[in-house]
Formats: sequence, C-alpha cells, structure tokens
Amino acid sequence: MANFYYQIKGRQPAGPNREAEWAWPPVFSGMVEADNRKLAKAQIDELYERQFPQRVLRTDMTDHAYLLHIQELHEHDTYLLRRFEDTACKECGTVFRLIDKYNDPNTETTSHDYCTEACKQAARFRDVQEFRLVNEGRAPAVIYQVRQKSTGRVYVGQTTQPFTLRWWQHVSNPTACKFHSALSSSDITDWEFSVIEVIAYPQDCVNRAAYITQRESHWVEALSAVDAGFNTIRPTGAVDQTQISLPLAGLA
Ligand SMILES: [Zn+2]
Repeated sequence: MANFYYQIKGRQPAGPNREAEWAWPPVFSGMVEADNRKLAKAQIDELYERQFPQRVLRTDMTDHAYLLHIQELHEHDTYLLRRFEDTACKECGTVFRLIDKYNDPNTETTSHDYCTEACKQAARFRDVQEFRLVNEGRAPAVIYQVRQKSTGRVYVGQTTQPFTLRWWQHVSNPTACKFHSALSSSDITDWEFSVIEVIAYPQDCVNRAAYITQRESHWVEALSAVDAGFNTIRPTGAVDQTQISLPLAGLA
C-alpha cells in the first residue's frame, strides 16, 4: 500500500483578456491509500461519483470543469505529509490539520503553527514581551547621540531598547524630520553613533520614564541639539507611556 496525494483543480473560465486556466488553490486536496496509482484514481472517482480527467488538452478545456492531479507520496515528501498530521496549536493546543485549512475557502489563516489568527497574534505579542524582558537587564535605558562628523551637529535620543536596534531604526525607517533627511542625504561614513549616558535610576525614582526624559533633556541642552543640531523639539516631562513600554515602537 502507498499513500497518494491528490488535488482537484477547478477551471477558471476565460475572461475578456484571459484564457481559461486551472485555478489555484485547488478546490480540494486529499490523500488516499491504495496499492497503485490506478486504484487510487478509482477510489477518488468513487468518492466523488464522477470520472476526473488527469490530462486535458488546452483546446478541450471548455469540456471539463475539473482536473485531477495524483502523486504518490514517499517518506521524503514531509512537507506534504505534514499537512495531514494532527498538529497542536502552539498557542492554545487545539488540534488541527493543515490540509483542512487549505480545503476551507473561508479559512482565516493557513498558519502551520497556530489554529487561528487570534492565536497567531497572541503568540506574537508574547514574543515581543519576552524580547523586552530578556533585554531589560542586558540593555539598560540609554541616552545616545548621533553625530555628523563633517558638521559636528548632533541628534540626541533616548531608548529603552537595545541601542543598536534604535540606530538601525533611524537608518532603515526614516521619516521626514530634519535628522532623517540629513542622515539619508549623506554618506553613512559621515555619521557616528554613541551612547553618552547609561541611565542609573536614583534610589527614590518613582517615574522612570520621566527620569530618562530629564536626562535626555540635559544632553539636548548641553549639546545644543535643538538650536544647532538635528533635534526638532525639546524633550518634555510629558512622555508618551505607550512609546516607553512598547519595545518595537520608535522613540522620537
Ligand atoms: Zn490556537
């Protein structure tokens, strides 16, 4: 006995500027067990009570609504075999089969790991939280500067993320601000990024976010980052807490 994977493809009718095609994804995909390919085909025909063609000439396409594709599965076809295996959702443990998702035209997700989009999102959110926790001890909040060597002008910023990530974000995800404009309109070799203070909270510190901003403010003034540099606004005590707590959101 062998396993045979099959796909029933439906015909997509010809349009004004399009020839008839076999539509993707298939209408149905399944697996049957049989001694040989011919018996596998007989099983499928019986299951659907019709004779499916396995080959259709382009000129005959209008005569056929479906096309059957059969392939014998071998041990090494793991990516196909996995579709038929009971899989536990990595978030909630619900058992699903990927093949059922593929066969459901209304499925909300074809994720291999999660039963629903909600589970996928929940897992992603927790990953982000874990990323933050892992890095909290390792990467303390810092005040950094980005300095243009040719002009001596600086941009001062704060971050509670690993500071290399913040640097990367400035370079990779520029906005229209004057800092990013200058950054993207000159050679990267004209810039240096450095940490100028590692935040050490005072014993009696009740509002860490406000303290970081206070230190940032100190450096913005000390380095004339607004008056002569690339900062647009002076940091104020009113810090957006959502920006502090979300590690992947950019801090201005
Ligand atoms: Zn789930």
